[in-house]
Amino acid sequence: MSVVKRLISAPAVIALGANLGDRQATMLAAVRELADTPGVQLTAISTVIETAALRPDGVDPDAPAYLNAVVLITTTLTPVELLAVLNDIEHAHGRIRSERWGDRTLDLDIVDFAGLSSTSERLTLPHPRAFERDFVLTPWLELDPQAELPGHGPVAALLAGLHQTPSGDPA
Ligand code: ATP
Ligand code: MG
Ligand code: MG
Repeated sequence: MSVVKRLISAPAVIALGANLGDRQATMLAAVRELADTPGVQLTAISTVIETAALRPDGVDPDAPAYLNAVVLITTTLTPVELLAVLNDIEHAHGRIRSERWGDRTLDLDIVDFAGLSSTSERLTLPHPRAFERDFVLTPWLELDPQAELPGHGPVAALLAGLHQTPSGDPA
C-alpha cells in the first residue's frame, strides 16, 4: 500500500454485540483494546442498549439477551487490516463461531468504512445487514444524527421506516 494511504485517516463505524459472559466488561475491554491499537483513534462511544437475540428464523426471547453499542473511529488502517484487528479482539475474548448468529462473547462488525462499497466474502461494506438492524442504527444515530449508510440513505430515515407499523403510524 502507498505511503499516502497510510497517512490519511478514514472514519469508520464499528458495531459491538455480546450475549455471553460478562457482556459489559467484555465490551468495555474491547473498546479499550481498539483505542489502544496503533493507527486507530476512538472518537465516540454510544450508549449501551440491551436487545433480544436474533436467530436466522427471528427473535429468540429465550436466548441470552445482547448488549449492543456503536463506536466511531478514525483509522489509518485499511478496511481489511481493521477487520483483522477486530477479529483478533473477538478471539481474545473467547469468540467461537459455530452456528450462524449463535450466542457469542463478542461480535465486532464494520458497519461503514469511509462510505466505501465493496463486496468480498471476507469483507462487505457497508455491512450488508446494518440497514435493517435497530440495534446498530439507534446507537449510530445517537452519535451522528446526520449519519448516512452508503446505498441506503440517512440512518434517521431507515430507523423511522423500521419503526413504522403496517398502518403507516409510528410504532
Ligand atoms: P452478521 O454479519 O449478520 O452480523 P455475524 O457478525 O455473527 O453476522 P461473523 O461470524 O462475526 O458474523 O462474521 C462472519 C464473516 O463475515 C466473517 O468471516 C467476516 O470476514 C465477514 N464479514 C463480511 N463483511 C463484514 C463486515 N462488514 N464486518 C465484519 N465482518 C464481516
Ligand atoms: Mg454481527
Ligand atoms: Mg461479526
